[in-house]
Amino acid sequence: MPPDAMRPLSGVVIGAGPAGLMAADTMARQGFHVTVFERMPSAGRKFLMAGRGGLNLTHSDPIGLFEQRYADAAPWLGRFIRQFPPEELRAWADRHDGESFVGSSGRVFPKSFKASPLLRAWLRELGDLGVVLKTRMHWTGWTNDGSLEFADGSAIDADVCVLALGGASWPRLGAGGNWVSVLAGKGIEITPLVASNAGVTCDWSDVTSSRHAGAPLKRVAATVSGRCVRGEALISKTGLEGGVIYALSRELRRELQTAGSCTVLLDLRPDLDVERLAANLAKVPRKQSLANKLRKGAGLSPQAISVWRDCVQHHQFEPDAALAGSIKAAALRVTGMQPIDRAISTAGGIAAHEVDETLMLRQLPGVFVCGEMLDWDAPTGGYLLQACFSTGRAAGENAARFARELAGH
Ligand SMILES: Cc1cc2nc3c(=O)[nH]c(=O)nc-3n(C[C@H](O)[C@H](O)[C@H](O)COP(=O)(O)OP(=O)(O)OC[C@H]3O[C@@H](n4cnc5c(N)ncnc54)[C@H](O)[C@@H]3O)c2cc1C
Repeated sequence: MPPDAMRPLSGVVIGAGPAGLMAADTMARQGFHVTVFERMPSAGRKFLMAGRGGLNLTHSDPIGLFEQRYADAAPWLGRFIRQFPPEELRAWADRHDGESFVGSSGRVFPKSFKASPLLRAWLRELGDLGVVLKTRMHWTGWTNDGSLEFADGSAIDADVCVLALGGASWPRLGAGGNWVSVLAGKGIEITPLVASNAGVTCDWSDVTSSRHAGAPLKRVAATVSGRCVRGEALISKTGLEGGVIYALSRELRRELQTAGSCTVLLDLRPDLDVERLAANLAKVPRKQSLANKLRKGAGLSPQAISVWRDCVQHHQFEPDAALAGSIKAAALRVTGMQPIDRAISTAGGIAAHEVDETLMLRQLPGVFVCGEMLDWDAPTGGYLLQACFSTGRAAGENAARFARELAGH
């Protein structure tokens, strides 16, 4: 047995978001002395922002369907999701903030609907576990002898280290992708960070942008590259945001990259087929205005009518079947995606082949990674936080095992 076999082991986590705090929690429960370094003045700023409009913690999808939400990353990420699955995340959240609940869309929310009570209780618990949180500590890389280096000139050693530095969306909340050059400098392949779950820009008429910005398009369907998603969208001054648009991030990004612009086919009445819609439109007396016909015959809201007008522009729709067709496939020309600093999440990150099955960087033994800095992408719906918590848990467990084995404990 090596002489230091029973000395307490130390773990360092960089980044106090959900992934990093979960890694710290896991190591601390295994007896590690854990210190979390965070560049901002407080922990979990993006997590708190996520709770502003209702913290969507995870989803009640069956696990097979759940995994499919991660598309190309599902084969490797799915393993970590199964190790700490949605039911366990819910049970964990319930211990901190009362009983979570499933909303009508299958999304899971904490009882308070917010992130702050959960984060407060969790930070208190981490303190009780002995986890030390050091804020305003900006990690910049490694010294020549392998210590972790910080912007204030300090250097720290630990038995094991977990990086949980997040993506690059909403940089004012702390995560700005500043780690990319550090890891790339070590020869680690990073898939470029790009906006995901972001709104799109389009050329609205003055009427749509000035009168209808902020108004929802309820129960619509949107199709890009043959993939159709149903849900809700939100009109912004410069384009369209919301669930259906976010869910099509991947397709939109691909089309915009190749062609510079793309078309979203909006179905403004997805619950009715063309024949039924045409029959409803035909019931409206001929002397009614087009706006009245769209409102009474198709049940469109004023904002939906305005969007429809922007899509069809000057076309005439004499037969009701043609009018119905244009409501069910209004071609919206999209000119771009909102910038990364307004996106909900980031796609891209540390390439999957750079980490082993324990989430350790193959080129930097003893350095584990988790959360949004890994190369996966998912729609909103709780899939983002679930992946951060699950990989945080796995990174913490594997880092602890690695350090114990190395120290001969
Ligand atoms: C407006 C908004 C709403 C959202 N809503 C939801 C939702 O309802 N459901 C959902 O699933 N997801 C949601 N998300 C996404 C979710 O919040 C993120 O996916 C998640 O926070 C990422 O966790 P993380 O721990 O990987 O990174 P982060 O939460 O970004 O944490 C990384 C931490 O690392 C710190 N850091 C970065 N670089 C350094 C450095 N060099 N040195 C020291 N510290 C550093 C940062 O300051 C930050 O605190 C939302 C995001 C936004 C912006």
